[in-house]
Amino acid sequence: MIFTDTHTHIYSEEFAADSDAMMQRAFNAGVTRLFVPSIDSSSTAAMYALEKQYPENVFLMMGLHPTYVKENYKQELEHVEQQLATHKFYAVGEIGVDLYWDKTYLKQQQKAFKHQIQLAKKYKLPINIHCRDAFDETFEVLEDEKGEGLFGIFHCFSGDFEQVQRAISYGMKLGIGGVATFKNGKIDQFLNEIDLQHIVLETDAPYLAPVPYRGKRNESAYIPVIAQKLADIYNVSLEEIASITTANSKNVYGI
Ligand SMILES: [Zn+2]
Repeated sequence: MIFTDTHTHIYSEEFAADSDAMMQRAFNAGVTRLFVPSIDSSSTAAMYALEKQYPENVFLMMGLHPTYVKENYKQELEHVEQQLATHKFYAVGEIGVDLYWDKTYLKQQQKAFKHQIQLAKKYKLPINIHCRDAFDETFEVLEDEKGEGLFGIFHCFSGDFEQVQRAISYGMKLGIGGVATFKNGKIDQFLNEIDLQHIVLETDAPYLAPVPYRGKRNESAYIPVIAQKLADIYNVSLEEIASITTANSKNVYGI
């Protein structure tokens, strides 16, 4: 079985002490394809180092995370552009709108999101969307940019059934992770009404560990735990979940 983690922060400082062992645990669990989103320019060097160490397994994205859109966001966007022009990436991400912590930079977040979607189109890349407490504000930008050239993944999808349909209509697949295993996760209640062709797996490690690891550090090795939950919800085998979601990830990322 080959599993794909479509969104994992393996360069996080939380893995500094046991990075090699963490990667080995993922490989042992069959999670051999790891797609790594960028946060801001401070994560770039660590991402390149991991790609160099695991060239067969680590696939990088480039982008400015909405929570990191601050006064200096134009400079940060320049960094994104420079990297995209000089290095191979598999998506622009993670990008989007996050109003959970702070609404101060909403306009700048939307501008940065739109600009980075246009960069993705320029390089014919998918996008990886981060959206928290901001569906209307995220959809507003996607509505402007919809059509040919717009495709990707709605990472850690947290919307309702109507928002599922809307995300799919913009060419997005839904990134499903540990939240699907939570009692109050709500997405598990209607997931089986969404065709599996729209679903990809992710951990968002080191955050959002699935039950029974909830609250602890998450890692890519837990992808099969999430996959098993989906196997239960869809009433199909674990093998089928692995092969369909890996095929879906190949459709998006082109590898
Ligand atoms: Zn993330």
